Amino acid sequence: MPREFSLENTRNIGIMAHIDAGKTTTSERILFYTNKISRIGEVHEGGATMDWMVQEQERGITITSAATSAEWNGCRINLIDTPGHVDFTVEVERCLRVLDGAVAVFCAKGGVEPQSETVWRQADKYHVPRIAFVNKMDILGADFDNAIEMMRKRLAANPVPIEIPIGSQAEFKGVVDLVNNRAVIYNDSDATLGKHFDIVEIPEALKEQAEFMRLSMLETIADFDDVLMEKVLDGKYDDISVEEIKKALRKGTISMKINPVLCGSAFKNKGIQSLLDAIVDYLPSPLDIPSVTGADLRGKDVIIPASDSEPFSGLVFKLATDPFCGNLSYMRIYSGTIKIGQMVMNTIKQRKERIGRILRMHSNARLDLDDASAGDIIALVGLKDTTTGDTLSDVGRQVVLDAMEFPEPVIRQSIEPKTRAGQERMALALHKLSAEDPSFKTYTDVETGQTIISGMGELHLDIIVDRLLREFKVEANIGKPQVAYRETIKKEAKAEGRHVHQSGGKGQYGVCTVIVSPNERDGGIEFIDETVGGVIPKEYIPSIKAGVLEAAKGGTLAGYESIDIKVRLVDGSYHEVDSSEMAFKIAGSLAFREAVRKAAPTILEPVMNIEVTVPDEYLGDVMKNIGSRRGNVKAINARNNLQIVDCEVPLSEMFGYSTVLRSLTQGRGNYTMQFSHYTEVNESEFKRITGTNREKTE
Ligand code: GDP
Repeated sequence: MPREFSLENTRNIGIMAHIDAGKTTTSERILFYTNKISRIGEVHEGGATMDWMVQEQERGITITSAATSAEWNGCRINLIDTPGHVDFTVEVERCLRVLDGAVAVFCAKGGVEPQSETVWRQADKYHVPRIAFVNKMDILGADFDNAIEMMRKRLAANPVPIEIPIGSQAEFKGVVDLVNNRAVIYNDSDATLGKHFDIVEIPEALKEQAEFMRLSMLETIADFDDVLMEKVLDGKYDDISVEEIKKALRKGTISMKINPVLCGSAFKNKGIQSLLDAIVDYLPSPLDIPSVTGADLRGKDVIIPASDSEPFSGLVFKLATDPFCGNLSYMRIYSGTIKIGQMVMNTIKQRKERIGRILRMHSNARLDLDDASAGDIIALVGLKDTTTGDTLSDVGRQVVLDAMEFPEPVIRQSIEPKTRAGQERMALALHKLSAEDPSFKTYTDVETGQTIISGMGELHLDIIVDRLLREFKVEANIGKPQVAYRETIKKEAKAEGRHVHQSGGKGQYGVCTVIVSPNERDGGIEFIDETVGGVIPKEYIPSIKAGVLEAAKGGTLAGYESIDIKVRLVDGSYHEVDSSEMAFKIAGSLAFREAVRKAAPTILEPVMNIEVTVPDEYLGDVMKNIGSRRGNVKAINARNNLQIVDCEVPLSEMFGYSTVLRSLTQGRGNYTMQFSHYTEVNESEFKRITGTNREKTE
């Protein structure tokens, strides 16, 4: 079947913003004007279409990255919703992988707020071309020029206004369109009725400013087009066509040299149509960006051009549970096509998957497709073994698209169903949630029998618990969020585990001896069978290993998972009748725990890489504060009038840091946090966590 929209006419874009700048409202208006929803739901009423997950509506923030399709001016626009909270950096990065361009929404009053800087820098890192939308032009304190100035100063961006506002704050009426050299005035009447804007002459009072801004726009973009450059140098401004301007703006934007800036008020329905035009005119199609590089199964690079005639490859970037369709796997197709019924290969898991249903997700409707092609973003229903980050590919040409890396979950919380009946439902739900989200893990603490959930931050786990209650109807009690410490050992030790009960009837018999020794960092728990002469029959070895791994999960000192330990099974004995898998599993568990107790066990704490961005004047205070948090400063780099402090701080010292940083810097400081490594805790932390002195265990 021929494609509905050509690759040239496809835009995969994200909307990025500081919380509250108006990302949700803007996304929603985009969907409204592209005619896919019938009613505008206001965020403050909790009715926004993108935020269909209940707890997002309550929080008023957007966490799930739903990919939503829309059409405008003969183009397919796939809108990928990117989360804005620091805890969700992984999610933001995951989304940035699959988009080709972005709209950065700024608040006309706040301008470049701390978090906008974080996401802006992430987009730099992933080479995402951007246009900017200065929103909330209608509010008190709105200042378009200031927002532009802040983009220049704080982001070191090259903003090129292609519109200027007509009026401001309560008087905001429309924009001067510098590209077309005309004015657009929006009607305040209900945007859903009749004609919504008028195109008029540029108001007299703004003519001079508009002329000046237009010339400066032309001078900046002349760099990107020789013909335009000639006309600018000759002063023949009137000979420059709209097409020429658009072409140069497009080239400059795609090459990441400029950021066209528009303005409006999403809430008051002003400026969204022009923004949609700009998305089509200036943001790249999949053909405008460099081809992705994948790897074949031997690890050799494979260039994957965005084309339907290539073999199929696609990256699954998001799993979601949809209330109507069940499990959805959002996928970006990088090359080739897929059809319903086709078998494809999950190259990471090495399992075949059948394409059962292909859905195009509109904000409130799901359209069944027969096929889908390169450059598109769609949702698949019914995949069995695929999780986030996996590549699906043609069975005949298998590739792995860059697998995403997920940092260690560093915060943990115990969770317990309120009723016995809830136990099974909770286990099922947690399993589902962790399949959706690789940065979320769940396991059982063997010591206490508690179920533990762990994730990237406090908010991350909050959301999970919320979803558990609402989507899966599991009522649960939850413990306080805690740092996910780890346990390990510092020396070698040997111990025997005996599980022997032989009084009457069929008894139980399992005996084994293990030697534990420190393994290298990230070596995990390594189990080696060194028994000889059949002292333990081979069929019981896996049970011993299972017992060891289970005991390792639960830790021995303070209930934290044990890592980086080599476990050698060296001896044991069995009984012809009384030995069983269960008996050996218990023996393995006992042996491991006893050996670890004798091997100078200790506690490791997660250390985070923190990057704090502060204006010069606050640097001293911020540094002092990092020092008081056991922080270790690695570098300080200046950029414009900002200082970027690179440091390592133990996670346990980071609770509540955002509030502290805000008050130290009058809200201008900003930070990102990523897991770096585990390191042994100091004496006093050891005592605080385990309740004993370290010498006792050494
Ligand atoms: P997000 O956190 O970036 O998704 O921001 P939202 O879209 O949820 O908007 C935050 C708040 O600002 C909501 O109460 C919106 O109704 C309001 N808002 C968004 N855009 C505008 C605007 O252009 N003008 C005004 N006055 N309010 C707006």
